[in-house]
Amino acid sequence: MYKDLERDVIKAGKCVLCGTCVSACPNDVLKVDEWGKRIVSVGKCPMGCTVCTDMCIGLHPIQVDPIEIFGNFKEVIQVQSLMTNVKQYSYFQYQRFYPDLGGIAKPKSGVVSTILIHLLEENIIDCAVVAGRRQDDPWRSSPAIATTDKEVLYASGTKPFQCPTNAALIDAIVNFDRVALVGLPCHIEGARRLAQKYLEFRETLKYLIGIPCGTVFSAELLTKQALEMGVDIERIVAVDFDNEVFKEENPIKNLGMFIVTDDGKRYPMSLSEFKATMAKECISCKDFAAEYSDLSVATLAAPVGWSTVFIRNEKGKEIIENMVSKGLLLQRPFNYEKIEDKAKLEAQAEMVWLKSSPKTWMSMVTQALMKRQRTYY
Ligand code: SF4
Ligand code: SF4
Ligand code: SF4
Repeated sequence: MYKDLERDVIKAGKCVLCGTCVSACPNDVLKVDEWGKRIVSVGKCPMGCTVCTDMCIGLHPIQVDPIEIFGNFKEVIQVQSLMTNVKQYSYFQYQRFYPDLGGIAKPKSGVVSTILIHLLEENIIDCAVVAGRRQDDPWRSSPAIATTDKEVLYASGTKPFQCPTNAALIDAIVNFDRVALVGLPCHIEGARRLAQKYLEFRETLKYLIGIPCGTVFSAELLTKQALEMGVDIERIVAVDFDNEVFKEENPIKNLGMFIVTDDGKRYPMSLSEFKATMAKECISCKDFAAEYSDLSVATLAAPVGWSTVFIRNEKGKEIIENMVSKGLLLQRPFNYEKIEDKAKLEAQAEMVWLKSSPKTWMSMVTQALMKRQRTYY
C-alpha cells in the first residue's frame, strides 16, 4: 500500500528519488509531483499490493561488494568522442557557461551522447530514457525520453540533483520496442529489478548505460546554500566540477566545485558548504560504479576530453567495438601509471565519496585500478 511506502521510505528520509516505483506500480497509482521532488499517490491501492515497497531502492539498497569498488567488469578502457556534432555542442555549452575563458575550453567528453546518437541513427534503439532538463528551469533535471540527436544533446551534461529518471521507463516501454537507459547506479539497479519482475521491461530494455555516482545534491539545500552565498538563483545555469582550470581559484586543494550563473560568474564552494548540500538519502547507497550496467562511463581518472569506460558484458563490448570501427570513438588502453593527473583522481575521489573516509576510499580505488591493470594490461 502507498501508505507503507510513504511511512517507511518517503517520510523516513530513505527515498533517493530514482523513480523506479512509478514504473513498477501495476495500478498507475504513483507519480512524481509537479516540482519533481517527491513520489505521490494519485489513486487507490488494491488490498495486499506491496510491489512498490518490495522493489524500492531506498528501502532495499543495492547490494554490491564494497571492496570491488568498480564492480565486476570485462575490460576498462578510455575513449574519446569523434562525433562532430557532439564535440561542437560540448564546446558551445562550455563557451556559454565560461565565456570569459576564451580558448581554455574543457568540454565534456560527450561519450554517452555519442553512444546514444549512434544507437538511434543505426536504428538499434527507438528511444533513450535520460535525465533531461526542465524546460522551466534548465539547471534542474527531470526524466526525459530522447528520440533524436537534438534531444540527446539538450539533455547532455552533468545534472547535480536527484532525478526520478526511472519514472519515464513505463512510458518508454509502452510507446517503444527498444529502449536504452542512461542512469546513476540507483536507476540501473531499479531497471534491473523492473526487468526481473516484468516481461515487458525484460524484452524492451536493451541497453543500460551507467554513470558512476557517489552522491548528488539536494535541490533544497543547494538552493539555500546559493542564497546564503549571494547567488541570484534565477540565473544559475549549472553546478560544475573542475579541478584543472579553476584550481587556483578554489580554497580546497585541487577540488573545484562551482555554482555557475548565466553571465559566466563562478561561485566557489568550500568543502563544508559542499557537504551541507549533499542529499542525505544517498548515505545508504554503496554502488558507486553502476555495477549492473552494460557499460559504465566515468570521468574518473580520465584526462580532458576522455572518459573511462568499464565494459561489463558482451553487449557493452559490442557497442564500443562497433563504434570504434566506424570511427565514432577513439579508444586507448587504460593505464593507471599513465594517468596524467593523479591529483585529479584524488580530488574526484574526495568529492564523490565524502560520506565515507576519502583516504580509505582512495586506497580502495588505487588498489582496484592496479589490480585490474595487472589483469588486463
Ligand atoms: S505498487 Fe501497489 S501498493 Fe504501491 S502504490 Fe502501486 S498499487 Fe499501491
Ligand atoms: S523506488 Fe525510488 S523513488 Fe520510489 S520510493 Fe523507493 S527510492 Fe523513492
Ligand atoms: S548516491 Fe547516486 S546512485 Fe546512489 S542513490 Fe544517490 S543518486 Fe542514486
